[in-house]
Amino acid sequence: MNPPLDGPNAALKISRRGENLGTENAFVVLAEVNGLVRQGRDIVSFCIGQPDFPTPSNIQEAGVAAIHGGKHGYTPSAGIDELRAAAARDMGVRRGLDIAPEDVVVGAGAKPFIAYTIASVTDFGANDEVIYPVPGFPIYESQIIANGAVPVPIYLKESRDFAFEPHELEAKITPQTRLLILNTPHNPTGGTLKRADLEAIAEILRRHPQIWVFADEIYSRLSYEGEFVSVAQFPGMFARTVISDGASKTWAMTGWRIGFAANRTLAPVFTRWITNTDSCASQISQWAAVEAINGPQDAAEAMRGSFVERRDLIVGLLNQVPGFTCKTPGGAFYAWPNVTKACAQSGCADSEELRKRLLYEAGVAVLADIHFGRRVPGDGQHIRFSYAASPAMIREGVERIAAFMRANIR
Ligand code: PMP
Repeated sequence: MNPPLDGPNAALKISRRGENLGTENAFVVLAEVNGLVRQGRDIVSFCIGQPDFPTPSNIQEAGVAAIHGGKHGYTPSAGIDELRAAAARDMGVRRGLDIAPEDVVVGAGAKPFIAYTIASVTDFGANDEVIYPVPGFPIYESQIIANGAVPVPIYLKESRDFAFEPHELEAKITPQTRLLILNTPHNPTGGTLKRADLEAIAEILRRHPQIWVFADEIYSRLSYEGEFVSVAQFPGMFARTVISDGASKTWAMTGWRIGFAANRTLAPVFTRWITNTDSCASQISQWAAVEAINGPQDAAEAMRGSFVERRDLIVGLLNQVPGFTCKTPGGAFYAWPNVTKACAQSGCADSEELRKRLLYEAGVAVLADIHFGRRVPGDGQHIRFSYAASPAMIREGVERIAAFMRANIR
C-alpha cells in the first residue's frame, strides 16, 4: 500500500529550470476553452494550430499495415532508412538542394529539434546568444532559457509584412551569437521571408561564420505566394543550416509525431540526443510518413487549396470588422489582425483583455499576441486566428466578433 499523502515535503525542491520552464500558452487557453465547452457553452475556436482534416486515408492504411505487419519494435534512433531517404529527397527537391539520407534525422515531431539544436550549439551558462523572432513560436524562447543560453529577440514588423529589418539582425549579432532561428512561413503571423530578405540575411551571416541557423520550415508546403525559398539555398548557408520540416502540417499528421531535420554536422549529434530521450520516433508513424511522402499527393494538395480559400475568406471578413485590419498572410494557416483600434473602441486595455471578452462574451476563442512573446514596440495589439476551421465556422466566428464590436463601440 502507498503511504498516505501528507503534503509537499519541504526538502524536495523543483529546480529553477523546472519551475521557470516556459510553455505554449495555446495549450493553456485550449484548456480554458475546453472547460467552457464542458459547461455547455457554444464556442467557435480559432485556437488550435493544426489542420482540421483527418490524415489522408492512404497514410492511415500504411499505419494500419505497419501494425499488422509487425512493425512494433524500436528503430535506429535516426529513423528507418526508407523514411530518411524519402525525407531527404523530398526536402531536397523542394529547395533545389542535394540532401543525403545520412544527413537527415527523424524525430517525434519537428518540435524536439528546436531543443536539440539549441542544446547542440550553445553551452549552458556560457552567455551563448540565440537570436529568435518575436512574435514567434514560444518554444524557441523557453528552450533557449532552459538550455542556459541568452535569448536575443528580433522584432518582426507589420510594416514589413512581419519580417525583421536585416540591418537590425546585423546590430544584434555579437561574438557570442551562436544561433539564428528563422521561421517561414511563420507562426503566428502567417508571414513569409522573401527572397530579397533571405539574400540580405545570408550576406550578413557570411560575415559571421560562427552562427548556425535553425530554419523552422514546418509550414514550407503551405506557402501561397510564389515558390517557397529556404535560407539554406543561398551561397554558404547549406552547411550551417538545420532544415527542420515534418509531417504534421503538410499531411494533417500532428498526432502521429513525425518530424525531420537535415544537417550533415549535427545529424550524428541529433541522433545521440534521440537515443538519450525518445530512443526513436514511433515505428508505425514512420511507415505512415514514408507513404505520406512517397504516395499520391492529391489529398495534401486539396488541403493546401482549401487553406488558401479559407485565408481569403477570413482576411476579407476580418477587414470588415470595426477596429480590425488584417494583412493577407503568405503562408501557414494563421491570420494576425491588428486590433489596436478595436481595443480602444471597445474599452479593452489590451489584446489579452479583448481575447478574454471575445471568449466569454462573444463565444469565440483566439490567442493574443502576448502568447507569442512580448509585443513589438510601436506595432500595437494583435490576436491570432488559426483558420484551419470550416468556412461555416469562419463566417460564424467572425460574425460573432463583428456583432460584439458593434455592440461595444464606445
Ligand atoms: N514549429 C512551429 C513554428 C510550429 O508552429 C509547430 C507546431 N505548432 C512546430 C514547430 C512543431 O510541429 P510538430 O508537430 O512537427 O512538432
